[in-house]
Amino acid sequence: MTYVAVTLGVLAFLNIYISNISQRLIYRSKEHSLVEKCQLASDEISTLDVLNPSTVSGILEQMESLKVTRLIVTDQMGNALYDSTGTSLGHRMILPEIIQALEGNDVFTGEYKKGLIICRTATPVYYYDTIIGSVYMTEYDSTQGALIRNLQVNTFQISLILELFVILFALIYSSSFSRRIGKILNSMRIIQNGDYGHKVSIGGHDELTVLGQEFNELTERLQTSEEMRRRFVSDASHEIKTPLASIKLLADSILQNDMDPDTMREFVGDIGSEAERLNRMTAKLLSLTRLDSADTPPEAEIIPMKPTVNRVYRILIPTARAANVRMKLSLEDSCPVLITEDELYQVVFNLMENGIKYNRPGGTLTVRLARQDENAVLTVEDTGMGIPEESQVHIFERFYRVDKARSRASGGSGLGLAIVHSIVSSHQGTVSVASRLGQGTVFTVTFPVFDTEVDP
Ligand code: ADP
Repeated sequence: MTYVAVTLGVLAFLNIYISNISQRLIYRSKEHSLVEKCQLASDEISTLDVLNPSTVSGILEQMESLKVTRLIVTDQMGNALYDSTGTSLGHRMILPEIIQALEGNDVFTGEYKKGLIICRTATPVYYYDTIIGSVYMTEYDSTQGALIRNLQVNTFQISLILELFVILFALIYSSSFSRRIGKILNSMRIIQNGDYGHKVSIGGHDELTVLGQEFNELTERLQTSEEMRRRFVSDASHEIKTPLASIKLLADSILQNDMDPDTMREFVGDIGSEAERLNRMTAKLLSLTRLDSADTPPEAEIIPMKPTVNRVYRILIPTARAANVRMKLSLEDSCPVLITEDELYQVVFNLMENGIKYNRPGGTLTVRLARQDENAVLTVEDTGMGIPEESQVHIFERFYRVDKARSRASGGSGLGLAIVHSIVSSHQGTVSVASRLGQGTVFTVTFPVFDTEVDP
């Protein structure tokens, strides 16, 4: 509607403007000749000794060039001494042009009326410096008037056709626009009701098409995150259910059976270790949730990696000894990265602990830290069982375990590598795995190096 109203306004303005401009052009072309005629008559009349109807008509009738629609000559009181139509002779003429001429002005007015151009002019008649009368002329021009009328009719018709096109276009466009917007709104309602798989199809090549595509991408992302959420909740409940079921089973056994103190102590110890596993899992889940909600923690600072790797090494010495795994370190000094100490510790610990957990007795765990160009590269290599190729893409997923029974037996929750991945990617780093079944696994973590001199 706004579109139609605006074009209507513009076309109406153009119609009026074109008509006015053409009328003004015609008036201007007429003004010169008519004023000249009027002044010529005025000059002739001013030569008369006596100004009365007969002297005036006498002199005017000699002037062939004064062919106009109406010619009136008045005395200084405005009484008509001559009227070419003969209608107002002797009457007082109170036409505005005559009044102005008697005040000493040359007057010209133009008017367009019903296909006629009407031009009026009046000029004073002087006897020396005294105004003794006025000459008034009217000229009706129907030829030029018809031209103006044609122009008006034509511009009006063209405008009408244009406006009809505009209305037609606006109708087609707005109905297609509201149909397409309706489609998007409808899809929004469907998605609000939980059908995240729904897609909107908007044809065309305009902004609405882009909006439709963006909308589909958004719902795809929503669908993925909804699926991830569902899987996470079901995996988490499953993981929590298993130790809880064991605890309940052990507790029931203790209650029902008449146990000897040693077995009972063993059962209670098992309950303790299941509870400990639950504890570890909830701690890891909490840490993952924290990682999900913040990109780079505000307390991140530039720290060298080597001391943290050494700290993890010292902590894991008893575990490695128990598993009969030899640890070898080769660490460069110049690897400062932007991270919190706790997060770096978790990354290194999870990878090195896995390297021991999934190693073979008598195996080796080699940890290297080196600077390559602008990156600090940490590799954790073991000589363990390796990871099957089809599992390598999944190991960074939450709760994913290659061998569930074995991992659970070694206290694994399937969250360690998910935490490593979250931490590393939130610090512009990367983590990758290369593994051969039965030969061993290498995890490679890279972080951009932050040289304190360059990036204080
Ligand atoms: P978990 O707590 O079960 O160890 P992780 O997320 O740390 O969970 O690891 C996921 C799975 O990837 C493990 O269950 C294990 O099957 C496999 N995995 C991780 N590290 C290694 C490794 N160094 N060698 C072989 N398998 C590994």
